[in-house]
Amino acid sequence: MIPLKLKLIADFLEGELTGSPDEVVERVETDSRKDVRGALFIALKGERFDAHSFISDIAESGAKAVVVDHRCDVSVPQIIVGDTAKALGLVGKLNRRMSQAKVVSMTGTCGKTSVKEMTTAILKTMGSTVATQGNFNNAVGVPLSLLQISKDTEYAVIELGANHPGEINYIVNLAEPDAVAINNVGSAHLEGFGSLDGVYRAKSEILDYALGHGGRGVVNADNEYYSKWSAEYGNRLKLVSFSAEGKSDADFRAEKVTLQQNGCFSFELNSPLGKAEINLGVPGRHNVANALCAAALSSFVGAKLENVVKGLSSVAPCKGRLFVEKYGSVTLIDDAYNASVNAVKASIDTLSLFPGKKIFVFGDMGELGEGAKSLHSSVGEYALGKIDYFLTVGDLAKEASASFGNKGIHFNSKDELQNFINDFLKSNSSSTVAVKGAHFMHMEKIVDYIRALC
Ligand code: ATP
Ligand code: MG
Repeated sequence: MIPLKLKLIADFLEGELTGSPDEVVERVETDSRKDVRGALFIALKGERFDAHSFISDIAESGAKAVVVDHRCDVSVPQIIVGDTAKALGLVGKLNRRMSQAKVVSMTGTCGKTSVKEMTTAILKTMGSTVATQGNFNNAVGVPLSLLQISKDTEYAVIELGANHPGEINYIVNLAEPDAVAINNVGSAHLEGFGSLDGVYRAKSEILDYALGHGGRGVVNADNEYYSKWSAEYGNRLKLVSFSAEGKSDADFRAEKVTLQQNGCFSFELNSPLGKAEINLGVPGRHNVANALCAAALSSFVGAKLENVVKGLSSVAPCKGRLFVEKYGSVTLIDDAYNASVNAVKASIDTLSLFPGKKIFVFGDMGELGEGAKSLHSSVGEYALGKIDYFLTVGDLAKEASASFGNKGIHFNSKDELQNFINDFLKSNSSSTVAVKGAHFMHMEKIVDYIRALC
């Protein structure tokens, strides 16, 4: 964080400051279990906690000042505000505003974190870069990410996520990015967004921000909403497009896409920056699209072809996201971190590239609203002819194995499913197993089971 005077922060928050206005803070903390010494502590309230209840302990533990929603009996300076969650957002925004860093942000139904990692890798070849840690992409995570920006930061890569309308609008106005990208629009969080058009509208809030702020945006030419983006924003924004399908009118496009080892692809990047061969170290054809999105977004803040090539080739896979592990004749694809419809299809496509019997192990997807059953059924149909076995656990996932036919098998518990996998791997010489499901399905337990088996 950039060192900021309490007076400046209090003014920006429109809060009431008690205590020394010239005191400088260089760190913000919101978690009372962490070391609060020297930090500005912002007292958040959740459903089950209220940090105001420990505020005197926090002051005694050495916090330099506190942000609270009512005057508290503490000896350290206080900034009293109406809403401490909003205050956290504003402190993040102030920190971003005080810096020289160029900020880029991405949203989309899937691949945000993947694009963030790739963009970060590219920008790191150009200068000091900070990025959203993990998946901290919501109204709390975005300000915390912005607070990582320090005096020396040249680039900040901030992921923006949402599960209801208006959320992107809120967080993009905190991040104030210089350039933005929408990776794709697909079926996820339909409970919050209402429909696919609702997802389009919500994701496009990032472009609405760009409109008012010297707008530069990246959109996906392969997405069904591309013509809508062009019609709605094309004349008013500098819009750059990408196509993993090599569409000739896209600015950044992949040509000669070729499968290499371990499910990873190489391609020829054809772009306004020039042409180059890109070799990805992360599996799945969908990562070609993610790489193009990252290249286009980075180009808005000065990336050259050599930065793109160097950055993209350094990206390594991470656990839970199509993470490939080899155990003799068994290949395990750990994709258990989370699931949306497009991500499940990407997982099936990736599994289809691997050797031996291909087994897809699938648990429910969440938050899909009224169409949940038919969307589950659709991924079973999608897998037909691509993989050999579709194994499911969970009430909704059952629809997927049912639509896959006789090699679609449903299990009433993870134990039953694991026993089947155990027997299967013993009696088949070469197999690849991919595991996927929503976070709450804890499919990583099945991944751990297979690891232990092998
Ligand atoms: P979250 O909403 O959890 O933040 P995210 O948008 O950040 O997700 P990632 O974490 O990058 O997305 O990937 C999540 C899942 O989506 C992974 O299983 C990944 O394989 C899949 N995925 C990533 N990129 C794409 C893409 N472009 N198209 C389809 N699926 C993708
Ligand atoms: Mg993410």
